[in-house]
Amino acid sequence: MNFRSFLGNHATVRHLQEAVASGRLPHAILLTGPRGAGKYSLALALAQTLNCLDPQTSNGLPDACDICQNCTQIASALDLDARVAEAVEAREDLRDVDRKDTRILIQTHPNVLVLPPDPPQMLVKVGQIRTLIHNVQHHPEKGQRKIYIFPQSTFMSEAANALLKVLEEPPEYAHLLLLAENPSDLLATIRSRTSTLHLPALPSADLEQLLAERHPDWKPERRLLVARLAEGAVGRAISFNAEAYTASRKDALLLLRTAVAEPDHSALFHMTETYRAGADGQQKTQGLLRALYTLLEDMMLLQGGMPGMARNVDILPELRHLADNVSFEWIESATHRMAEVESGMRRNLLRSLSLDALASRMQSR
Ligand SMILES: [Zn+2]
Repeated sequence: MNFRSFLGNHATVRHLQEAVASGRLPHAILLTGPRGAGKYSLALALAQTLNCLDPQTSNGLPDACDICQNCTQIASALDLDARVAEAVEAREDLRDVDRKDTRILIQTHPNVLVLPPDPPQMLVKVGQIRTLIHNVQHHPEKGQRKIYIFPQSTFMSEAANALLKVLEEPPEYAHLLLLAENPSDLLATIRSRTSTLHLPALPSADLEQLLAERHPDWKPERRLLVARLAEGAVGRAISFNAEAYTASRKDALLLLRTAVAEPDHSALFHMTETYRAGADGQQKTQGLLRALYTLLEDMMLLQGGMPGMARNVDILPELRHLADNVSFEWIESATHRMAEVESGMRRNLLRSLSLDALASRMQSR
């Protein structure tokens, strides 16, 4: 993933490349944008470009080759979820006493350290910043740079304080990249020591265009649906599993239809029965709840006279029919019922039981 292959947001990408070219890349960068906008991919593209063994150009500006040893090693941090899962698993295998002091860090190349939020609290902890402080004292090889990436800049307060010291005087060869959905996620004291770059959500039309290039076999209707559901995030649009979504949405629609219009309890029973306990069932239920949520939101938009903002564009007539048969309050309370099912899932109740309960509670309006 070099700059050249980064999708969308050309101005921000160009800005980074120009900063590299002029030797004025800030030492602390806050990269903001919605989930899936490509913040982490762009951070790794920058890390590659600063350490590439066979530097290239794109649009006349510095870029990485994406194939040399350094580029390849850095790129293997791209699947962050997988790397974090490996690190968590390795920590589980440690003795109790060691596990307590082991923080999650991803380092696939000596010059690039990724500091993800540490589970289960999902906050960056002071132990991770201490590793950074220790690591940043070692110079990289001549001509190379050290990059520290926080994929999600949510810090415990002790960690934030420790980080401030690094941000005050980073060595000239070091760059810290703080990624966040909103600048307001960070303390003002940290924010003021960084240069902010924004990766905004892309317009739905741009995502459709992108999907047309990536998936020429898709019908325009599906491209429009995925573009709307991705909410401006390139990563989400590209990796969107349309089949899984449509399957979940089919079940969500059955649930809604049963609750609103024509109760078909045997169909409902057969459907909820396929939602079993365990990790698979949990994932399936989450998919259903997500789909149900988009349907309820679209029904609200239809009631509010804003069909142009609805996301499930391919089934609008059916949604309109459902929306015409319920009140705004009904939709609101259905959304609350969903939150209850979600918290039930966290307490590990039998999924099918909670789904049946959801359907019948939605019905009793
Ligand atoms: Zn390279």
